[in-house]
Amino acid sequence: MNKKVRVRFAPSPTGPLHIGGVRTALYNYLFAKQNNGDFILRIEDTDQNRYVEGAEKYIIDTLDWCGIPYDEGPGKDLGHGPFRQSERKLLYKEYAEQLIKSGKAYYAFDSAESLHKHRKEHEKKGKTFIYNWHNRLKLHNSLSMSPEELQAKLDKGDSYVIRFFTPQDEVLHLKDIIRGDIQIDTNILDDKVLFKSDGMPTYHLANIVDDHLMEISHVIRGEEWLPSLALHSQLYDAFEWEAPVFAHLPLIMKPEGKGKLSKRDGEKGGFPIFPLSWGNSIGYREAGYFPEAVINFLALLGWNPGTEEELFKMDELIKVFDLNRVHKSGARFDPEKTKWYNHHYLQEQEDSVLLNSFKPVLNEKMEKERAFDLSLVRNDDYIANVISLIKERASFVSEFWDLSDYFFQTPNYYNEKVVKKQWKENTPALLSKIASLLETLEDFSSPELENMVKTWIGNENLTFGQVMAPLRLVMVGDLKGPHLFDIMALVGKNETLKRIRLALEKL
Ligand code: GLU
Repeated sequence: MNKKVRVRFAPSPTGPLHIGGVRTALYNYLFAKQNNGDFILRIEDTDQNRYVEGAEKYIIDTLDWCGIPYDEGPGKDLGHGPFRQSERKLLYKEYAEQLIKSGKAYYAFDSAESLHKHRKEHEKKGKTFIYNWHNRLKLHNSLSMSPEELQAKLDKGDSYVIRFFTPQDEVLHLKDIIRGDIQIDTNILDDKVLFKSDGMPTYHLANIVDDHLMEISHVIRGEEWLPSLALHSQLYDAFEWEAPVFAHLPLIMKPEGKGKLSKRDGEKGGFPIFPLSWGNSIGYREAGYFPEAVINFLALLGWNPGTEEELFKMDELIKVFDLNRVHKSGARFDPEKTKWYNHHYLQEQEDSVLLNSFKPVLNEKMEKERAFDLSLVRNDDYIANVISLIKERASFVSEFWDLSDYFFQTPNYYNEKVVKKQWKENTPALLSKIASLLETLEDFSSPELENMVKTWIGNENLTFGQVMAPLRLVMVGDLKGPHLFDIMALVGKNETLKRIRLALEKL
């Protein structure tokens, strides 16, 4: 166990990363950092047909936004690169040939049409065609032809693939930290293609060769790769290389619990599936999530610390994360919980961060909708004070405007139901009285206001509700909002008096 911990995140640039991919990166990163190891980013782009422009940049931007920096990867080569498989393409062939020499792999010349035909024939009989020990001697490959025939084909440049030679009647003993020991009968496995006719390796070969050359100690990846483990572990044996330790992470399940979380679930449920926006799909970043919230909820999707604690930042996760405590069973995705986390991290943000995110919204309201009275928005301090009063009720900065519009504009609408209930016959008289009292107040601070109004209520033998509800209605237009005296103090004396007078005119 004195081997240096080196893990990799190895996405294929076939589109945007799913949030599950981000979790895979996160778990790798946490494991690396808690073991003083290296976290490597490798771009697995051997499948040229599935390559999507912009996907690699998307992956890197995502890691960046999430705060998951890689120690080695594209643009950061400390001797194990390059880190794009397309740039390593020339080195895979010799490994495939090495396996041919040792009898662990063979050439196969079967045309796509003939394989298609076999598949169709099997389907008709309700069977599945697999290329392996039971039929390989009857198919068109180097096992079923003479050495001369083979040489002639190679000399002629006939197109071929290289397949792995899966042994017959063996039981493989596979190990996975999360799933324990797994036994597989080799007779059910097919002879997977390692090297394609286009001169490129398949995922399987490139992945194993690169993990070996990059000295990867632990392979931590999604459960969808568990079926490949049998082949991968045989490949390590075939090359006589020491295999890394494997850990296959549980699937992320739909909110309802059954089935894998998909893009469609996000569309249906109105929550993001991608970390950053991609095409028409809104990402977590653009939906107003903080990276801390995304990291926190992802960490707990498939792992738990064994305590009730649910709040973890990256540095804490690095300490407490435990690969041995990752669950085997799927982790149900809970969109409500992601909002709960965002609410928590919104409260923790620096004022300046919230201010900078809210200001563009205010500017837009001002420019496009001419929504508010400029004289009210005095400066950044004013906006920051507004934020500190309302943020407790918000999970997203995008909710700030609806929670705070009355700080920026005199209410031009009063909730009718509230008016009906709270605006009594004597209300105008009471409010006029208050207005004249307020006018005399020099220190228009929240405690002073509170003191004055409450004393007056007491002296006049009034009830609290008789005064406070209508006063809130004139200040806010409704019965919502933070502490009333905080609101009055912040908008100031002139504006407070203006609002009382306006309401007396209108109501
Ligand atoms: N390229 C594979 C993927 O896209 C990597 C799987 C692995 O980590 O071995 O997920």
